[in-house]
Amino acid sequence: MTVFQQEHLLFTPATAEHNAIPAIFAFPNEYTIGITSLGFQIVWATLAMRSDLDVRRLFTDLSEPLPRNPELLGFSVSWELDYINIFNLLESLDIPLHNIERQDHHPLIFGGGTVLTANPEPFADFFDVILLGDGEDLLDRFIDAYQQVRQANRETKLRHLAQVPGIYIPSLYEVTYYSPDGEIKAIAPIDSDIPAEVKKQTYRGNTLSASTVVTEKAAWENIYMVEVVRSCPEMCRFCLASYLTLPFRTAPLATSLIPAIEKGLKVTNRLGLLGASVTQHPEFEAILDYLSQPIYQDVRLSIASVRTNTVTEKLASTLANRDTRSITIAVESGSEKVRQIVNKKLTNEEIIQAAINAKAGGLKALKLYGMVGIPGEEMADVQETVTMMSAIKQAVPGLRLTLGCSTFVPKSHTPFQWFGVNSDAKKRLKYLEKNLRQQGIDFRPESYNWSVIQALISRAIAV
Ligand code: SF4
Repeated sequence: MTVFQQEHLLFTPATAEHNAIPAIFAFPNEYTIGITSLGFQIVWATLAMRSDLDVRRLFTDLSEPLPRNPELLGFSVSWELDYINIFNLLESLDIPLHNIERQDHHPLIFGGGTVLTANPEPFADFFDVILLGDGEDLLDRFIDAYQQVRQANRETKLRHLAQVPGIYIPSLYEVTYYSPDGEIKAIAPIDSDIPAEVKKQTYRGNTLSASTVVTEKAAWENIYMVEVVRSCPEMCRFCLASYLTLPFRTAPLATSLIPAIEKGLKVTNRLGLLGASVTQHPEFEAILDYLSQPIYQDVRLSIASVRTNTVTEKLASTLANRDTRSITIAVESGSEKVRQIVNKKLTNEEIIQAAINAKAGGLKALKLYGMVGIPGEEMADVQETVTMMSAIKQAVPGLRLTLGCSTFVPKSHTPFQWFGVNSDAKKRLKYLEKNLRQQGIDFRPESYNWSVIQALISRAIAV
């Protein structure tokens, strides 16, 4: 059986019409990772439910049988460092990397997702079409508009697509600079028929996404994912997940979440509640009560993001009773000063209380997530992170503690977008490593060098 035959679909793909548009929809990483992306799943299902498209999936390690002459090739881009895989896949299909080198017989290369919406410019030379914002509505408008000009030449197609709100056609805009190696002066359309501004699309409905496919080959085997909230009202000043997708939206429990959860639990017992700030849902307690019912006692529950001061004993025991052993909280720093700088409304007492509640509820481990190199951070602040971790260890002996730590990377659309990567971050990661491991606290740093590259790709500027 192929991996595709092992999938359990929660939607009905359309049968392609005889003149359906041959299309490829790609995820620039392995199948296991791509199929665990809710965004990828949703876009693929939306395309596959159209009878006027014959869409096949492509990953870096495998694919469905691909059309010989695709007209459209799309990428879902959710991680900057996947950029190299986009180039590799284009090369493997004999498609020129640069949009200006493509001709009429080449497919239109389109893309969407967090990375491209946040800042399409670093990718502007490589994509023909970039979809900005939420895919609901926009994706169908894109395909409908493409159908209207399907027989036209490449330039006519692109000019027509440029009229659709939310569609950015980079080759129809000219970038001017203050100096050859300096800042951008303007990005202007090449003529007056092209919109001067492309507006990011925001979905206003109140039904959020849920998995369209469940498979044991997913990174979290057989997980069914439900998007509980979109964006986050906390607005920490570095946070793309909050700013890019504002306003904060929540799926209503009775009319949206429960039907979605029930649908998924018919085919699997593994449930993931997704969103930047799941525990901020106004009916979160009711969600926990609902999932605590005896009929769901075999359900394995994972929650994507838990705000530290919402880790109650009840939440911890619900998770522990649903086969979860640990919980992750983002604290950013042990320094109250740094947390104030980033607008993280959290005290050390609340962090310690979260650890106490986690243990009291029956969880075995607590993972904290922090950053170094936040603007305004000094060495004394990093020392405070060590002090805070020691205090947690003393307060909850026996609870396994891990600190995952990255380097601050500036992201477009956030208030911190103009800051660079702090070159002292590397030293600070080493300091944490030495001082935490000495105390038996697990420390998992993310690569400083890759953070620098990520910053270059996110912002397209030197750091
Ligand atoms: S609480 Fe988390 S998700 Fe919300 S803005 Fe802060 S970092 Fe982002």
